Amino acid sequence: MSTTPTVLVVEDEEAYADALTIGLAREGFTVLWARDGQEGVELFQKNDVDVILLDLMLPKMSGFDVCRSIRATSDVPIIVVSAKGEEIDAVVMLEMGADDYVTKPYRLRELVARIRAVQRRRDAGSSAAVEATQVFEVGPVRLEIETRRCFLRGEEIKLRKKEFALLQLLIEHAGRVMTRDVLIEQVWGADYFGDTKTLDVHIKRLRNLLETAPKDPLIITTVRGIGYRFETNAV
Ligand code: CA
Repeated sequence: MSTTPTVLVVEDEEAYADALTIGLAREGFTVLWARDGQEGVELFQKNDVDVILLDLMLPKMSGFDVCRSIRATSDVPIIVVSAKGEEIDAVVMLEMGADDYVTKPYRLRELVARIRAVQRRRDAGSSAAVEATQVFEVGPVRLEIETRRCFLRGEEIKLRKKEFALLQLLIEHAGRVMTRDVLIEQVWGADYFGDTKTLDVHIKRLRNLLETAPKDPLIITTVRGIGYRFETNAV
């Protein structure tokens, strides 16, 4: 990866894109700005882009079509930026392969943390392919897949089978929003017809075991209307 990662901002609101360009440049990123979906795809093809920030509602070509077009040829990290009330589209985009999701308005610090998380994950992913890692260590949590053991700050925690499977799925995709449907399908199976509250019950139990303040979680956070995310910056 280059020392100054290039972020492609696909955003039609000029004032918003300007502020973002200044803020991200200050954080050490090179910023390319596309003001519509079509320009977004063109700039992506012509440049060496490390991360894409993709607005959903765009002129000429929707964020949905931009995502599909880019995913056909590239696994570049894509962070969907959506306004309030666009959650449904964001779910579709995550299931199409977008990596993460933020809602406007967000703080620049949060956005930068998300960008760094998707980059880290991509870097880890390329080495994991060689090593086939069986141990995940993110923040205070360590998960050993083969021995099925979980540690929190070095202390072993006993997990039930489904809790372990759920935690594994979340930690494997740390920094990425996992939709409720994907979590239910992968932990309980595609033919699961039970109550979708089962997922929340398991999340609640994991939080009780892992979080210092389970009602104000820092490790497994809720992304409203979408699903859950294992945070990469918890300590
Ligand atoms: Ca827009």
